[in-house]
Amino acid sequence: MIITKQKNLEEILRVLGNGPVFLIGCSECATLCHTGGKDEIGAMKEALEKRKIPVSGCIILDPACHLNNNKRMLKEYSKEIDRSDKILVFACGNGVQTVAELFAEKEILTGTDTLFLGEISRGNEFDKRCMLCGECLLDIFGGFCPVTRCPKSMLNGPCGGSSGGKCEISSEMECVWDRIYQQLKNKGKLQVIDVIQKPKDWSKAVEMKRRV
Ligand code: SF4
Ligand code: SF4
Repeated sequence: MIITKQKNLEEILRVLGNGPVFLIGCSECATLCHTGGKDEIGAMKEALEKRKIPVSGCIILDPACHLNNNKRMLKEYSKEIDRSDKILVFACGNGVQTVAELFAEKEILTGTDTLFLGEISRGNEFDKRCMLCGECLLDIFGGFCPVTRCPKSMLNGPCGGSSGGKCEISSEMECVWDRIYQQLKNKGKLQVIDVIQKPKDWSKAVEMKRRV
């Protein structure tokens, strides 16, 4: 899932000016992150109107990153969208750009910051799990990603700074190499990490298009 956080209201107001504005949310990741679902869009509408900023309409796209679906859903809101020069989108960076494709003449604003690809670890907690490197190494590392979960992206063992299973960069973080070691040891596969990993080929992370 793509993890986002909502920008604070002051920041949004600063770029928004006087409006009017049309609001867009997303039914998928932004809804699960509580950054761009029905409740958040409703709350934003209320907050803006309280400050005398007109909201010409709002919609939750299903999801915001689906270009053709967006075209179909937004057609029904053409009058409301026409009444506003600004569209404020609460979705991941991908969703915001998908909306921007459709409205070259409008000012597209984003109400969210996109953080990472992660898992829902508990109710409202999200943990970073993948950096979309384009060449997945999880089968080597027992299902734990050192590229993402080690701040130094160490591929050939720990940096030597961990203590009590915690990372030297932040004691709130586990050292992922501790997890990798334990996992491989439990499975009797420690020999896997004897093989020296070459530096990652980051050119594989720059694929700009894929067709299925
Ligand atoms: S190795 Fe690459 S693709 Fe696999 S989880 Fe880590 S960052 Fe993501
Ligand atoms: S302590 Fe572990 S997780 Fe932290 S930087 Fe070093 S190897 Fe990476």
